[in-house]
Amino acid sequence: MEHARKTFRHIEYVFLDRDGVINRKPPEGKYVCTWHDFHLLPGTEGAIAALNASGRKVIVVTNQRGVALGLYTEDDVRLIHTELQRHLAAYSAHVDAFYFCPHDNAQCSCRKPEIGLFEQAFRDFPDASRANSILIGDSISDIQAARRLAIPSIFIPGEPGSRKPGGVEAEAMAEAIAESLAQAVDRYFPL
Ligand SMILES: [Mg+2]
Ligand SMILES: [Zn+2]
Repeated sequence: MEHARKTFRHIEYVFLDRDGVINRKPPEGKYVCTWHDFHLLPGTEGAIAALNASGRKVIVVTNQRGVALGLYTEDDVRLIHTELQRHLAAYSAHVDAFYFCPHDNAQCSCRKPEIGLFEQAFRDFPDASRANSILIGDSISDIQAARRLAIPSIFIPGEPGSRKPGGVEAEAMAEAIAESLAQAVDRYFPL
């Protein structure tokens, strides 16, 4: 298996999509509005802790269109991220930065597959660049954003019952595939 052999030793900045990577993606048309709706996927805490321990930065980049739809506010998103940090701290894990797009489709330059969230991160972390970054995501828009940025990506297809349109294309475009964040970190970022 070619995928099983690939590692990304030179990577220092690991960009993570949120819903479907860190936490269970809600059913189509549903959104994570509060911490109560945020259910971490198995192994997430350990995977982030391992990335932290390896010296890499962990940066979340997430589309939160539910803000534009009026389902929750930007402060609600920040509150969820604060709760997530509190939860991760018990596992000696943390996220180095969160970036989210609160806009609706096709109205901004930050909703993935646009690359504005990454550009914000590159401004805030001057050592980060296309040469030392990777994205792990579960949507075609994640993989397309990585492609536009010219950074590698790892695609998480998701549970068989909840695979999304574009999955086949995303698998073909991504540099690697994993069943979960935990598996991606185990397989591609050995300590
Ligand atoms: Mg996602
Ligand atoms: Zn946006």
